Amino acid sequence: MPQYKYVLEEKDLPTQWYNVLADMKTPPPHYLHPGTLEEMLDPPIPPPVFPMALIEQEFSQERWIEIPDEVQDVLKMWRPSPLYRAARWEKALDTPAKIYYKWEGVSPPGSHKPNTAVAQCYYAKEEGLEGFATETGAGQWGSALCFATRLFDLKCKVFMVTISYHQKPYRRIAMETWGGNVVPSPSSETKAGRDILAVDPETTGSLGIAISEALEYAVTHDGWKYSIGSVVNFVLMHQTVIGMEARKQMEMAGDYPDIIIGCAGGGSNASGLIYPFLKDKLDGTKPDLRAMYVESTACPSMTKGIYAYDWGDTAKTGPVVMMHTVGHDFIPAPVHAGGLRYHGMASTICRLLEDGIVEARAYHQVEVFDAAMSFAQAEGFIVAPETAHAVKAVYDEALACKESGESKVILWNNSGHGVFDLGAYDAYHRKELTDYKLDTAAIEKALAELPKVPA
Ligand SMILES: *Cc1c(COP(=O)(O)O)cnc(C)c1O
Repeated sequence: MPQYKYVLEEKDLPTQWYNVLADMKTPPPHYLHPGTLEEMLDPPIPPPVFPMALIEQEFSQERWIEIPDEVQDVLKMWRPSPLYRAARWEKALDTPAKIYYKWEGVSPPGSHKPNTAVAQCYYAKEEGLEGFATETGAGQWGSALCFATRLFDLKCKVFMVTISYHQKPYRRIAMETWGGNVVPSPSSETKAGRDILAVDPETTGSLGIAISEALEYAVTHDGWKYSIGSVVNFVLMHQTVIGMEARKQMEMAGDYPDIIIGCAGGGSNASGLIYPFLKDKLDGTKPDLRAMYVESTACPSMTKGIYAYDWGDTAKTGPVVMMHTVGHDFIPAPVHAGGLRYHGMASTICRLLEDGIVEARAYHQVEVFDAAMSFAQAEGFIVAPETAHAVKAVYDEALACKESGESKVILWNNSGHGVFDLGAYDAYHRKELTDYKLDTAAIEKALAELPKVPA
């Protein structure tokens, strides 16, 4: 009988976050100012949308950053999270591969996202803020932030992408239960929203638009700042508690991964697991370690986009970032994995991808649900549609091991549960779930709108 689960105690909670920038030989280029397109070398002057402590973390080159006691204290509500050996799934797939997964669905909102929400709320409270404005796709980020703002006695305003607002009412209800104020985006509460609605009143919305609305709300309300759930350096860093714990748990299991896999919207949960291991590849200890980011074919920034400077948001309010992008104007098909509909990707991941240190792959939603079904029937957990993309990559790698007879060790991040996403599973069961053909003309059009950065 294999051991099924590896559990750490509260005292084993990591006390430091890991900053991959300290170990990257070629770091990503500096951000550019959204208006002037000039390099922003230091904490950006205009307008400081994040709490100052987070801006400092964004630009930090320190390898290890202390996790404040108050943050550790809240994380201990559900952390350290368990690491599972998917032995029953291995058997069902008849693969010689050993499959391990880190289970982030144990947080109260049910995903990895509170790992950063809690940290951001701590710094906001320290700075004396009244509240946070934010965007949410599928609703996981919004619910994580509503949960965390409540614990730190802050207010929360959430702009929720219209398609998800209607597809996932239960997420909205959870957010409201934690005291958040939720509106569908684009909304009429901001100029950014009103401008989009004037052109296309039927739009299903996008994360880019919702980000613009939240940013505008934050800068036009005193005592409010903006909170972001992915993409930026400090969020990826806050998520490294996942990988730090997993390192200890893999040691308990007596294995080291050959392949680490995570699904990627902005890249935070995957990097949270991957970066603490990738450190071994960057310093030459584990040159053969493979790290794989899995995205949706509906929004294929890493596999079909280009590596270029682009605005992080549709209204061009945030910094211009060198990243793999399908263009800030691109509106992806309304796939159920709302959290994978962001047009760009975290800048460190993109740099590592350019340098061939990590890899990327994209899948269609029906094949992704086939794999999630196979996983649920063997292991029981019904994963989020985003997470299911990682499951599909693990599935393919496990079957490749079956072909080749290799017994590889696969580690992946089970980023969240799909209990609020049963509508998507229902559509799958009824065979109503469809794959969308990628509108390459729309991507080309969006890529023509990239900022013209002088060489
Ligand atoms: C938001 C979300 C994602 C995608 O975001 P990343 O920043 O790429 O991690 C993946 N899985 C779940 C469960 C999510 O809630």
